Amino acid sequence: MECRPGCGACCIAPSISVMPGMPGGKPAGVRCIHLLDDLRCALFGLPQRPSCCGGLQPSAEMCGGDRQAALAWLTELERLTTP
Ligand code: SF4
Ligand code: SF4
Repeated sequence: MECRPGCGACCIAPSISVMPGMPGGKPAGVRCIHLLDDLRCALFGLPQRPSCCGGLQPSAEMCGGDRQAALAWLTELERLTTP
């Protein structure tokens, strides 16, 4: 499956422990500072982009049918995996 243009859910809902320019990492539910207005990644292809971002593969389960579904699924995953 391909990443859906105009989504950006996985750059907003999850926490990301290390993020350039975000001391302490990106909190869950907070828009990544590198997410552009058109919901593309400003660090795409650059060495500063966290490896977990590059390694994340779109999937039917995570991405769902639309952006709202992806945000909901990722928010629930974050809740389930937060100690
Ligand atoms: S949730 Fe899926 S479709 Fe949305 S930005 Fe992430 S990978 Fe792309
Ligand atoms: S660095 Fe890019 S891919 Fe990673 S969360 Fe931020 S905007 Fe998304």
